[in-house]
Amino acid sequence: MKIILANPRGFCAGVNMAIESLERALELFGTPLYVYHEIVHNRPVVERFKKLGVVFVDHIEEIPNGATVLYSAHGVSPEIRQASAKRNLRAIDATCPLVTKVHTEAVRFAREGYTILLIGHDGHDEVIGTMGEAPEHIRLVQNEQEAATIDLPADAKLAFLTQTTLSVDDAERIIAVLRRRFPQIVGPTKDDICYATQNRQEAVKELVPEADVVIVLGSQNSSNSLRLAELARAHNKPAYLVDRVHELPSEALTGSETVLITAGASAPEETVQECIAYLQERFGATLESRTIREEHVSFPLPRELRLISVGVRG
Ligand code: SF4
Repeated sequence: MKIILANPRGFCAGVNMAIESLERALELFGTPLYVYHEIVHNRPVVERFKKLGVVFVDHIEEIPNGATVLYSAHGVSPEIRQASAKRNLRAIDATCPLVTKVHTEAVRFAREGYTILLIGHDGHDEVIGTMGEAPEHIRLVQNEQEAATIDLPADAKLAFLTQTTLSVDDAERIIAVLRRRFPQIVGPTKDDICYATQNRQEAVKELVPEADVVIVLGSQNSSNSLRLAELARAHNKPAYLVDRVHELPSEALTGSETVLITAGASAPEETVQECIAYLQERFGATLESRTIREEHVSFPLPRELRLISVGVRG
């Protein structure tokens, strides 16, 4: 068996920043420490923090007055910020700056009187947060069919935005439908899909023809991980999205000579290495690492933590 290890894979700059923020907040404030939603969409990461005493909540009302809360990498709506302020919470905002950029665009378009078509998945934390910036002005478009049938006047003042973790190909198709129906629509030059999502998809696209089967390390609720598995399947290759290698169905690798391994933007490298070690031990697999693109992106810790860190040292 041969393993092809895709590069780039795994943690992106936003996930690194969010995880480091939570670690730093734990050091500075100890527990109880609350996180609104999962800090990143990855089960092993969330479980590790739960063991350290971090409490993950889905409602701000679950947090006692005056406690400390971290907002996850996916961002929050203004309503959540107001609810936190009402409870006097110390809020640390670990929203990925690339998500914040979409929020800012939504606010600007809404202020300028546009109806915004947000291309994304209903119920995803990021979509809920972005829609909350201008609920009266934003309509969700989830697929080509919705783009083809959304009921709007032909000359409506329209803008589009996208979730950061979509399939690049799906988004292109949806945007093409919108542009055909509403040539006046404005938006980002291409889309808001982030560099990490694009690069991980590009690596799979390039390497999948060489593989018999694809393993994507990541969680079932991780949008960008799901898109990687879908992309492999669209190339007629079986693909398995698992948090850890022992969750693979027993028949998954039967008869496979070449296995492509990648990981979603929130999946820890430790789970990738565990998977490689298993395949090496069980099948005597050889390893070939293939880099499709270099990444040199990093984001600073949230302002609230930087200020406190400086204060503590001073
Ligand atoms: S996947 Fe992209 S948008 Fe999401 S946290 Fe990572 S860099 Fe930010």
